[in-house]
Order: sequence, then structure tokens, then C-alpha cells
Amino acid sequence: MIKIYLASPYTIGDQALNVKKSIDIADDLIRWGYAPFCPLLVHFQHMVHPHDYETWMKLDLEWLSLCDCLYRLPGESKGADREVEFAKEHNIPVFFSMNKLRGWAKKEMNIEKYFITDGFGNSWDKICHECGKESMKIVRPGKVQCENCG
Ligand SMILES: [Zn+2]
Repeated sequence: MIKIYLASPYTIGDQALNVKKSIDIADDLIRWGYAPFCPLLVHFQHMVHPHDYETWMKLDLEWLSLCDCLYRLPGESKGADREVEFAKEHNIPVFFSMNKLRGWAKKEMNIEKYFITDGFGNSWDKICHECGKESMKIVRPGKVQCENCG
């Protein structure tokens, strides 16, 4: 699975809302067959066992170095910008658009394993975006449908 690091604004604005935005995107990515890494989840650990900013940052960059790409969520953030810089320095692809990320991921992933094709140059995720199951089937060239959702 493609490991996606979510570089998210945290400090500026409503922190709980920032965490929610990041988790929502992580959840979309799970349903689309990716392995998101959501560093803002330490928001909850920080409530119980706080550490200073640089400690969290150091741990974040450690995990980022293991990810296949980085997705930068919109919004002002020095931390997220620093993660983008780190990714660029370490040749980890950086994306600001989910469509671009998914286009890249399609090429990176094993097409036959993750996608279905109709033989006319069209391909779709095998996983249904509604139910999350690997249940997409070709109905006719150019059209797919989920066996569960219809
Ligand atoms: Zn479905």
C-alpha cells in the first residue's frame, strides 16, 4: 500500500477542527486503498503526555522519511511547510491536490492489483468509494458499477 503522510496545519486556528480535517482526509484515503499516516493524532497523546514542539516535530519527520509521498492540506502552517521542505530534500513526492496525488499513485501502484480496466484505456479503483469493498465491476466499456451499491 502507498503510505501517505498528511502534512496538516495544527497550531493556527481551532486545533480540534484541524485534527478533524486531517482525520477526515485520512479516512477517505483508507477507503481508497491507501495507508495514510496522520501525525495530528498525537493531539490526543499530547493531552495525556505533553512533549515540546520540537520533540513531536522530530518524531513526525522520522515517520515522514518512511512514507511514499506527502499530502499538504491547505492552510497556513510553519510545521507543515517544514515537512514539505523535508520531503523535497529527501525526494519524497509532495502533493497539494488530491487528484494529482491519485494520478501519481495510479502509476506507482501495481495497476492490475488495484485497478480494473476495460481494455479501452479506462481504469478505475477496484475499491468502491461508497462501501469500501473491492467490488467494482465493468458493466460495459467506459462504465463501472459496484456489485454491492449498484
Ligand atoms: Zn459499493
